[in-house]
Amino acid sequence: MINIYQPTLGKEELKAVEEVFKSNWLGRGPKTKEFIKQFATKLTTDCFESMGFIQASEKNLLTISSCTEGLFQAVELYVKEGDEVILPSVSFIGAANAVVSKKAIPVFCDVNKRTLNPSVEDIESKITKKTKAVIVIHYAGVPCDIERIMNLCSQYNIKLIEDNANSPFSRVNVKSTGTFGDIGLWSFDSMKQLVMGDGGMVYCKNYEDKKKLDKLTYMGLESKSGFSNIVDKKWWEFDISSPSRRSITNDIQAAIGIEQLKKIDTQIAKRRLIHDAYTKELGDLNWLLVPEPIDPTTTSSYYMYHIQTKTENDRDKLAKYLRDKGIYTTFRYYPLHWVEYFNCNNKLTNTEYLAKHTLCIPLHQGLSQKDVHKIIESIKEFK
Ligand SMILES: *Cc1c(COP(=O)(O)O)cnc(C)c1O
Repeated sequence: MINIYQPTLGKEELKAVEEVFKSNWLGRGPKTKEFIKQFATKLTTDCFESMGFIQASEKNLLTISSCTEGLFQAVELYVKEGDEVILPSVSFIGAANAVVSKKAIPVFCDVNKRTLNPSVEDIESKITKKTKAVIVIHYAGVPCDIERIMNLCSQYNIKLIEDNANSPFSRVNVKSTGTFGDIGLWSFDSMKQLVMGDGGMVYCKNYEDKKKLDKLTYMGLESKSGFSNIVDKKWWEFDISSPSRRSITNDIQAAIGIEQLKKIDTQIAKRRLIHDAYTKELGDLNWLLVPEPIDPTTTSSYYMYHIQTKTENDRDKLAKYLRDKGIYTTFRYYPLHWVEYFNCNNKLTNTEYLAKHTLCIPLHQGLSQKDVHKIIESIKEFK
């Protein structure tokens, strides 16, 4: 079976893990610090540095056990019971779970029919006095209209949470996605471009939020024992600021992350080649649509490739046809306003259309030329 997503791990990661074993410190420690530092550097483009503007530093960043946990933490920081949070129906289930778990109200908005990115107009139309936060994603790695959404949020004094799990190092002009919102979140789970088993990164625009999250991701502890090595005279005494969870990453994960960070540009470049080959070969078929060209002022991380069949019938049949040929496909993300648990009776026209016409086909750096050829030919043969 040709996988839809797949990590690329090698000797480098194994060696890095071996070093962590030898160091006898498996918990959060020097490797995690190093990973955060290198991640900050990667977020900050040469262009910004030359202008004397540092886009992200270690002061803005902390690692987190998963992006889902990051969504929960961000919602807990900004949202109270009864508040409304606007998020696209086409987004990750964890975002809605975070809102509902806080007894806040998820307000699902529509998306663009072709890009599947959140619609700015629909976000604006759903803003009320109760709206406290907006959560957006950059679908498939292609930046959404984040600058307009950012302006909208500041105009209405609403917090912006950027779920950047699809879009590591995607850019709008020179600025990295994930750094536009008040909080940006990355995922390093095993299906993403950069993997460390599980784990994620949080970007906080305000250092104050970052400091709060440092505590909230570590049992709410006030003292800095352990990670920082700064301990009081009686280091067994402590206090907490809130009864919180433990949501950190360890040095095994970080060691893998450091190696993955070195490879990420090459991996994204390979994904881009496959993406472009799909568009070239499938773009002329009269029964389907390929993704629209990416706005030249932005860059994509090429996380997913989605085709859209012109008829509903074709999408489901094609998915089965490809699976029988050993090619796994899927649709991301099943509309959240259709999830019965959320008991939502919105009508979202674009979402409801695209959910019946869209299919994500394999896209990862491990695909061979032979695989890509097979995928293209199989889709062509379908009709
Ligand atoms: C993968 C993903 C998540 C979840 O990340 P985890 O680290 O697995 O919790 C959240 N949002 C989006 C958009 C994702 O693609």
